[in-house]
Amino acid sequence: MRFSKLKLNGFKSFVDPTDLTIADGLTGVVGPNGCGKSNLLEALRWVMGETRPKAMRGGGMEDVIFAGASSRPARNFAEVSLTIDNQDRLAPAAFNDQDQLEIIRRITRDVGSAFKANGKDTRARDVQMLFADASTGAHSPSLVRQGQIAELINAKPKARRRILEEAAGISGLYQRRHEAELK
Ligand code: ATP
Ligand code: MG
Repeated sequence: MRFSKLKLNGFKSFVDPTDLTIADGLTGVVGPNGCGKSNLLEALRWVMGETRPKAMRGGGMEDVIFAGASSRPARNFAEVSLTIDNQDRLAPAAFNDQDQLEIIRRITRDVGSAFKANGKDTRARDVQMLFADASTGAHSPSLVRQGQIAELINAKPKARRRILEEAAGISGLYQRRHEAELK
């Protein structure tokens, strides 16, 4: 699975619709302090199903919505779309009927957030599983936040194990086992 496009609309500082093409190979995001580099990575994390506002540096999930600036009013919703090139047909069966897979997450104030996959309503869990199984999950260490290297070094063994399990692509299995045990 290869990410090919990322679109943001009303997400944090990206108030105007912003479309980014993700080319093959290594992508660098450069710019001055505060220009939105971390916000971009958070948008990626969020559309992949992140549930913890703290991972978005917010107190609540609605903090990802553009909060307004001196010259512009706040927005009522935020939307992020991630297009995945699925020509290799590696997406799980439920998502695997097209060359491209577009996942959209939208959050509306006082309503909450919802996901769509190629235009169809989709459960958050299915989106999270899609990425967990692709071992690029929302909590995956393949998305390394600022300060996370230090956290990894200082982590207690159990926390470190979870990070390594995610890196190994078995966190989806772990989550399914946990759900089975609860039943
Ligand atoms: P650095 O190089 O310092 O790490 P950065 O490029 O990673 O900077 P970000 O942290 O992505 O920058 O962007 C911070 C900017 O995003 C700040 O100006 C902040 O006010 C703005 N911002 C964050 N959340 C929102 C929001 N909900 N609404 C509007 N602006 C926001
Ligand atoms: Mg940053």
